[in-house]
Amino acid sequence: MAVALYGVAVGGGIAVGRAHILKQGMEDTPHYAVPDAEIAAEVARFEDAIRNTRRQLEQLRNNIPENAPTELGAFISLHIMLLNDAHISREPIDIIEEKKINAEWALSQQMDLLIAQFDSIDDEYLHARKQDLMQVVERVFKNLMGYDENDFVPEQADLFDDTVLIASDISPADTVLFKDNRIAAFVTDFGGASSHTAILGRGLNMPSIISLRYARDLIAENEVVIVDGIDGVIILQPDEFLLKEYRKRAREYRARKRELSKLRDTVAATQDNVPIEILANIATPDNMAEVMKNAADGVGLYRSEFLFLNRDTAPTEDEQYREYAKIIKKAAGKPVTIRTMDLGADKNPRWFEQTRGLNPAMGLVGVRLSLAEPQMFRTQMRAILRAAIHGEVQIMWPMISSLTEVRQCQVHLQIAKEQLAESGVAFNPNVAVGVMIETPAAALMVGSLLKLVDFVSIGSNDLVQYTLAVDRANKNVAALYQAAHPAVLKLMLNVLRTADRMEKPVSICGEMAGDPVFTRLLLGMGFRHFSMQPSKMLAFKEIVLSCHIEQLESKIVPILKNDDPAKMSELLEKLNKFQAT
Ligand code: PEP
Ligand code: MG
Repeated sequence: MAVALYGVAVGGGIAVGRAHILKQGMEDTPHYAVPDAEIAAEVARFEDAIRNTRRQLEQLRNNIPENAPTELGAFISLHIMLLNDAHISREPIDIIEEKKINAEWALSQQMDLLIAQFDSIDDEYLHARKQDLMQVVERVFKNLMGYDENDFVPEQADLFDDTVLIASDISPADTVLFKDNRIAAFVTDFGGASSHTAILGRGLNMPSIISLRYARDLIAENEVVIVDGIDGVIILQPDEFLLKEYRKRAREYRARKRELSKLRDTVAATQDNVPIEILANIATPDNMAEVMKNAADGVGLYRSEFLFLNRDTAPTEDEQYREYAKIIKKAAGKPVTIRTMDLGADKNPRWFEQTRGLNPAMGLVGVRLSLAEPQMFRTQMRAILRAAIHGEVQIMWPMISSLTEVRQCQVHLQIAKEQLAESGVAFNPNVAVGVMIETPAAALMVGSLLKLVDFVSIGSNDLVQYTLAVDRANKNVAALYQAAHPAVLKLMLNVLRTADRMEKPVSICGEMAGDPVFTRLLLGMGFRHFSMQPSKMLAFKEIVLSCHIEQLESKIVPILKNDDPAKMSELLEKLNKFQAT
């Protein structure tokens, strides 16, 4: 009987292949006492292993294949840095000398200690780095054990063309091997969504799933498995029926990707010639490669706060300037909307202490935190104004709930401009400013807000959360989080109609914007500017091309009249089945 294991989907489609279980280094660590006379030799053996590991990593870094993910070099450098740290390269020697034990055991003791330290810190980023540390230690271990270099990665001769690698974890360095097309997919038992393995997996475009937990215990060498990187499920012992079904799905996925890529240069307009703007949501300058690959019209939401997280101090003005300039230059003349740091609630910087209160999402979040830290806020806006000399830039303030906040933001922006003028640094004083509509208050007061700013963008993720009083990150109330709830749609309509009347631009940039379930509804309601994950753009464009706005406008009337959330999904299904004539 077929068995399904669920993990975190990294992406890359579907593969059917034979399992190859990767040998993991730290199992069965030898443990023995070393006589006094041999301690010096044991230390030398450990130092040799460190040297060999460094040499191997440097060699890998110097021979990165051209088609490898761009981040790979940086990740291998991080591993070299970890290796050079005294925690790994020096402290095990102290353990060998003090406890008079063999190097492998000393190394594993040291690793246990370091892991315990990492585990005591409640920080997703550091947890991901724990994974890096373990990968480096494992490589040192394999060198100590005298494993052949091929044990780090499976020997090519062993592999079928359709090999699925099953590992407890895979290091960035090991992924170099994946470029060999003999590997069809990989799955791991460890790793979080922000682990380097996940980041690289996404870049590799190979079916992959992480965080499966028991894959290595449950899967046998050579057994046929199905890896579905779209839904994050691996199927063991599939019968003929399942194999046939998934082979078909894999073919369909590949064909669909090829088909969608043809739309790259097609102008996004509906059948009745209404142009639709497709912008990208990004978190770092690295995302710009995919943005440009999919021919986005620009960046509709740069979540700048990611630059402020996972570090011990806030970034300086110069550092921010360089980061923003990178994005603006990569956008090559296309507009870039920089949202000022949207920190607080689930995005807490290490360097900013605050009491969280009972309802963090209603606490010092978004622009409230910026206004409470005016120096930091002005520093960021100075950096944006300076970077704005390199292209078309807009500033957007998040989590606005009153006119007072906007006026305060404007004062700080004005001061930032005066400070720059005084210091004589080049900057662009004519940057458009806008606000996010993420609270019911902002949606209801949008007319007055738009008298103060140039544009608005609906952040549907938060607008839904605050309208329905449903925590967007709490799985206990996930069923109540209904993006197209009638109350949410009424607020959105108010925003759209008011902005239209005032002839000011309005866009939507929450997850709803790129979700194909809502595309027709949003087009029918009047949205013309959408900002979404780059990976969603081409499928979105495909729907746009199939739509006729005038026809949609009449088709969505029952949805806009409906006040019953229970009827919404049925109405949406009907709308999405409708074919434009
Ligand atoms: C939103 O709330 O819809 C939004 C785009 O902002 P974030 O998801 O970053 O809160
Ligand atoms: Mg938001």
